[in-house]
Amino acid sequence: MFDKILIANRGEIALRILRACKELGISTVAVHSTADADAMHVRLADESVCIGPPPSKDSYLNVPALLAACEITGADAVHPGYGFLSENARFAEILGEHNLHFIGPKAEHIRLMGDKIEAKKTARRLGIPVVPGSDGAVAPGDDAMAIAKEIGFPVLVKAAAGGGGRGMKVAQTAQDLALALSTAANEAKSAFGDASVYLEKYLQKPRHIEIQVLGDGRGGAIHLGERDCSLQRRHQKVWEEGPSPALDAAQRNRIGGIVAKAMQEMKYLGVGTVEFLYEDGEFYFIEMNTRIQVEHPVTEMITGIDLVLEQIRIAAGGDLPATQDQVQINGHAIECRVNAENPVTFRPSPGKILQYHPPGGLGVRIDSAVYQGYVIPPYYDSLVGKLIVHGKTRAECLMRLRRALDEMVVEGIETTLPLFRALVRETDIIDGDYHIHWLEQYLAGQT
Ligand code: ADP
Repeated sequence: MFDKILIANRGEIALRILRACKELGISTVAVHSTADADAMHVRLADESVCIGPPPSKDSYLNVPALLAACEITGADAVHPGYGFLSENARFAEILGEHNLHFIGPKAEHIRLMGDKIEAKKTARRLGIPVVPGSDGAVAPGDDAMAIAKEIGFPVLVKAAAGGGGRGMKVAQTAQDLALALSTAANEAKSAFGDASVYLEKYLQKPRHIEIQVLGDGRGGAIHLGERDCSLQRRHQKVWEEGPSPALDAAQRNRIGGIVAKAMQEMKYLGVGTVEFLYEDGEFYFIEMNTRIQVEHPVTEMITGIDLVLEQIRIAAGGDLPATQDQVQINGHAIECRVNAENPVTFRPSPGKILQYHPPGGLGVRIDSAVYQGYVIPPYYDSLVGKLIVHGKTRAECLMRLRRALDEMVVEGIETTLPLFRALVRETDIIDGDYHIHWLEQYLAGQT
């Protein structure tokens, strides 16, 4: 097992990793920018190192500063969390070159899945169903129109290097194609430094359903069921739940089995998420994330498996925590991402939290690093915290979520709590009857 882990992240996920380290008896090193000197994970870590000024590129993405922090503190492993360097294959390799462990998948798998075109090819080869689309990148000389007509309009232009919903443009008809291609390519070029794009059938009313996997890197791999992340705004998840209201055990076992087998064949190491769109009973692979995800607590609540702790154990050479048969889905969990944003305009609302009261009671979990008097800096994401609620059934879970939301107090800044309080009372939500466009339609007053 590792002696000392450096946590190369901030906010709630840094605290989440710190908690797993404490339980395993591993010493912790927090790194922080000058804007995060007062952060909770910095206060609670055994040691802390300031790695630079507020902009991420000078601090949380600053590889030489992180290596120096490992060297100074004698850390033997690095947990990257999500975002920042978590899906940077080169970072994983550099750590290896310095005899440091990267707590995450093999660099080759991070690189493979980071290129969505290669990821789709791999998925297809491993027997995973994919969204119909172009065979690979659509190059300038290609007859994009012929490819799009073959797929059938509407089509979606997507960036090979895409992430966070960027570099994605819909062409409803043939007239829109040229503009969609050039805008997506330009956006991809400026956001990711890679203008390659590909085409996909634009599905009308799918759900976003993702399968959580865990692999030992030696050919052992299991799936831990699904999360339904269909409630999105601008392709960003807002509310996640598991199990999906749309799936039954047979469908779960079928797609979970296909994914687990693919991960076994790849000899995948650590945690990962295979994302699908689901429409009319069919699954279509869109991408794989090779890191711990924001919404991982949903799976933890319904399986009882601590994903971050297992990530660390597996990175140290440990075995999987369970066989597939031992994995049981118990009850239902819902996560709300409470952001420091205006609940109507979604304008970021950084600033000082004057009053903070997290809800409690049976089945209620808060993953957050804020406290009363904490100032949310304007430089990073706007997540205040995740409220995760568990119940024996979906109905019980909704009942608990309703009262937990009413109990939660965050004052001094604007938050998206009022949006969740309204959502949890909506008939379609109560019925589990929603798809990836539902939330935007609701916000536009069209439901
Ligand atoms: P990113 O990596 O930017 O998050 P994804 O490929 O994971 O991109 O897609 C993000 C979201 O965009 C999906 O959850 C879904 O809402 C939407 N989306 C992606 N591909 C399609 C598609 N072919 N048809 C309809 N919606 C899509």
